[in-house]
Amino acid sequence: MVRLQNMPVFDANGHGGMVAGWQALLLDLSGVLFDGRRPIDGALDFMRRVRRCGVPLRFVTNTASKPAVAIADEMRQMGFEVAHEELFTAPRAAHDYVVARGLRPFCLVHPAIRAEFDDVPQSDPDCVLLGDARDDLNYRNLNRAFRLLHDGAPLIGIGLNRYFMDEDGIMLDTGAFIRGLEWAAGIDAVIMGKPSADFFKLVVADTGQAAADCLMVGDDVAADVAGAIAAGLQGCLVRTGKYRAGDEASLPDRAMVIDRIGALALPGR
Ligand SMILES: [Mg+2]
Repeated sequence: MVRLQNMPVFDANGHGGMVAGWQALLLDLSGVLFDGRRPIDGALDFMRRVRRCGVPLRFVTNTASKPAVAIADEMRQMGFEVAHEELFTAPRAAHDYVVARGLRPFCLVHPAIRAEFDDVPQSDPDCVLLGDARDDLNYRNLNRAFRLLHDGAPLIGIGLNRYFMDEDGIMLDTGAFIRGLEWAAGIDAVIMGKPSADFFKLVVADTGQAAADCLMVGDDVAADVAGAIAAGLQGCLVRTGKYRAGDEASLPDRAMVIDRIGALALPGR
């Protein structure tokens, strides 16, 4: 394998810096390739260039409000080419985690993905699976979760994000509820999804490349960029989606910043 030379990457405002060459690309979806159901400017053309370039590509999302099949369908409707095996979602990782351990989860997840857990026994639960459950995150359900955790059941979080972007603005995400339950029950959650290093490792292993040769691009400083860098990958923030002016201040030193995904330089091969 030929290792690429370090190359300087700067965005239009001169931000950025030296990044090592990379051999595989991990892309967050919402806020990087599209907003809602609208492709971000230049994203479709960027994806065509990535396909021509031939680098391994994986889509890595914490979206827990729709099944993976629906995510892929919506992407195709927008004009993005996506293969089932390239899509890594936090709910799928959480599903595989509880199945591998024979756990019976109390599923506090979005109604749209409940069916994804239909093959998992859920009576007499012995763990809590907490995702983007929206209005189901009420006192009755959270207290049921708390009682299970207090009795020693593990908490499996589907992603650990502070907020996400919706059509009418930023929305409180699952991370706040996970952290609250951890604090109240005196436990640590297992996170399936970003920024969990275990989750990034699964995706990296699937690319066949070393973590240090993988670049993760996202619009979430903590879950996408800092998480990836902590897991040994390279990380890049895009100034689209949920990005807000000043987010750069929370970035790890080694992170790169670009204005939009179309500004990412691809490795020559
Ligand atoms: Mg995003």
